[in-house]
Amino acid sequence: MYDVQYIENLRDYIFSKTGKYYFKNIRDGKENILVTCPKHKEGQERHPSCGFSKIDKDNISAGFFHCFNCGFTGNTYDVLKMILGADFNRDEVDSKLGIDDLEFEYRLNANPVLFTIPNLTPTKYVSRNELKQYRYYSKYLESRNISMNTANKYDVGYDVRTDEITFPIKDKYGNCLAVGRRSVQNKRYEYPKGFTKPVYGVYELPSRMDNFYVYVVEGPFNLWSLYEYKKCGVALLGTGTKNQLEQLLTINCKGYVLALDGDSAGRKGNMKIAKFLLKHKKSVFVACVPDFEDINSMTSQMFKQMEIMEYWDWFHTITNRFNSYEYNTNEDLTYEDFID
Ligand SMILES: [Zn+2]
Repeated sequence: MYDVQYIENLRDYIFSKTGKYYFKNIRDGKENILVTCPKHKEGQERHPSCGFSKIDKDNISAGFFHCFNCGFTGNTYDVLKMILGADFNRDEVDSKLGIDDLEFEYRLNANPVLFTIPNLTPTKYVSRNELKQYRYYSKYLESRNISMNTANKYDVGYDVRTDEITFPIKDKYGNCLAVGRRSVQNKRYEYPKGFTKPVYGVYELPSRMDNFYVYVVEGPFNLWSLYEYKKCGVALLGTGTKNQLEQLLTINCKGYVLALDGDSAGRKGNMKIAKFLLKHKKSVFVACVPDFEDINSMTSQMFKQMEIMEYWDWFHTITNRFNSYEYNTNEDLTYEDFID
């Protein structure tokens, strides 16, 4: 659990290693804990300017640090690497702070190319009967501008017992691999343990895609919104794993429009996916999702006005915006490359 205790353990661990107190000031909030920044003023600022996410939000994973002052961004490992330098020992950190399981999802999202989970493809499909029990159009979908028509298309349902939106994740033949869930209360996504995420929404694409561009988005809500706008799309249920990138290649489409969220993780995801697709000689465009927005959060007006750029044009625009950072496209991009 990411809570005040977690930060206190982290603070004590760092003290045991360095003899110096970081996170002197810790303030608990509903979704975030505010802490003094571990980076600027050598980690000794007086008042908190750094937020630590307690829960998974649409754009940010639980356990994520962000300093509103100096821009430092990262997870627990990044914090410790920054402070401890060469003394950082991953195994020791995992055992002392017990963060291995909690960080799993983050690592997968942050570094999917380097970190792949074992392929535990379920041999059993979810039955039609199980799916039937969730068939209910929730008011919550309406509040997020997802119509009943779209809910029917993707078989989006609702589990009354748990207050979760449900959505069957199908293989390209329509077999249901798993039921994804998203809590209405805390906005967390849940997938069955050991489940390897495929590209979501491939089965629902038109049978012939050779004259269409396929939009690539992060979350299911973004995909359902695309359907409202009559666009073909698929969702990565994150920012894309290696398996998913390979699966994208198998969609026989005219090209791709990358439309990940308007934040640094989304921009980095766009770059990672584009790099892969371009290597395979695909046509790649980027939809310029405004900062702090995603396809679902935008109004239809914003969506209509959203600029679509050829990948390299977008890349140059973005890199000019962050021109204090050097981008080297011949190297694998590291997280630090895209902190804004
Ligand atoms: Zn800072």
